[in-house]
Amino acid sequence: MMRIILLGAPGSGKGTHAEKLSKHFFIENVSTGKIIRDIIESKSELGKLVSDFVKNGELISDNIVCKIINEKLKSDKCKNGYVLDGFPRTLQQARKLEEFEVKVDAAILIEVSESIIIERLTGRVQCKECGNVYNVKLNPPKVVGICDTCGKNLIIRDDDNVPAIQNRLRIYQLQVAPIVDFYKNKNLLKVVYGKNNIEGTFTDILNVLE
Ligand SMILES: [Zn+2]
Repeated sequence: MMRIILLGAPGSGKGTHAEKLSKHFFIENVSTGKIIRDIIESKSELGKLVSDFVKNGELISDNIVCKIINEKLKSDKCKNGYVLDGFPRTLQQARKLEEFEVKVDAAILIEVSESIIIERLTGRVQCKECGNVYNVKLNPPKVVGICDTCGKNLIIRDDDNVPAIQNRLRIYQLQVAPIVDFYKNKNLLKVVYGKNNIEGTFTDILNVLE
């Protein structure tokens, strides 16, 4: 049983490590975006409510997001544990999870320097069709400008220019700082310094979990 919260800036490699942790420990990889898409498709009561929010372009409240996550974490799929990717996003959400008695064994913060993040994010290209993300320097597609999976054209993401990235990082820092403190005060926080080497970083993550 392993219940992990993974925190990290955009470009920290959080998504990659969530996937690796999920495979390593045979635990469910819980990403908010995917759960919200699933719940809308389920056409349940909650699904209809969420679908209305999304249709009207409204933000889903912390309360509803936490309710959805809580349901997921207590479902059968999560009985071996889970890794939460990018959640909680706010201190309110962290507190709500606690109210719902969601158990956490560790909150791992992947710290990556701003210069590395900028290097990673400025090289990103994404497939319009399937959403696959590549990096022209670090993880290039086999053929320049073409998606390996579906063969469609790759595009540079609009929000991946340097000032926009710096702005996103500032917003992220403001949001994550109180969450980091929250878990630090509970003795659950583990910090890993992300390098430009996925396996090396992953080994560090496994080490802090021991
Ligand atoms: Zn594709």
